[in-house]
Amino acid sequence: MNIIGDLSGVSRCPHCSVAAPQLKQVWVTPNALFIPSNPLVGRLWAAYQCTTCSDVILAKCAISRRPSVGSGFIPAPKVEQLFPYTKSAHADIPEPARTFLQQAYDTLHAPDAAAVMAGSAVDAMLKKHGLSHGSLYSRIDEALAANLLTKGMADWAHEVRLGSNRPRHADAEKPHVSSEEAKQSVDFAEALGNFLFVLTARITRGIEASKTAEPAA
Ligand SMILES: [Zn+2]
Repeated sequence: MNIIGDLSGVSRCPHCSVAAPQLKQVWVTPNALFIPSNPLVGRLWAAYQCTTCSDVILAKCAISRRPSVGSGFIPAPKVEQLFPYTKSAHADIPEPARTFLQQAYDTLHAPDAAAVMAGSAVDAMLKKHGLSHGSLYSRIDEALAANLLTKGMADWAHEVRLGSNRPRHADAEKPHVSSEEAKQSVDFAEALGNFLFVLTARITRGIEASKTAEPAA
């Protein structure tokens, strides 16, 4: 990725999830700033606007003061980090839930698809805990009864619109999920994954690490 001109090489816009977004440079710091602790690498910042959703991405870039070997030219600045970054489903979430959650992130620009994928992710997470019978919402109640979920998580699940077949009186008039509803469903699926798997794995690793740590002298 090169800071001169527009930004290419970004797989998806972190705002609207469009693939291979066209990102137009709208701002850049006029000069690289070299700080005393790292005098050979300067810092530049640039802002890029997505031509699909018009939202802006900030890029943190580094430029070397040293010419590249053999060429004598100062290499072009490199993008080191984007804000916001493109989301990826956490590695501690088991398959197939992780892939469903990733697809939910990747389809936020298509709210119906994102809500269905968020529902599939929640479905797969509950199945991993042995809850495989009945509707998604009845299994969420079972998970609460089994102390797998807190009351707050279960209430939240009932507030969001997961999947495509949630019974609703208004569905005939309002068959589609809004962007906001889809985002809330995806946020819930992400939180459930963190709650059921990511946090548990972190706790397990923490306990293991403290068991193997050298006792203080
Ligand atoms: Zn966008």
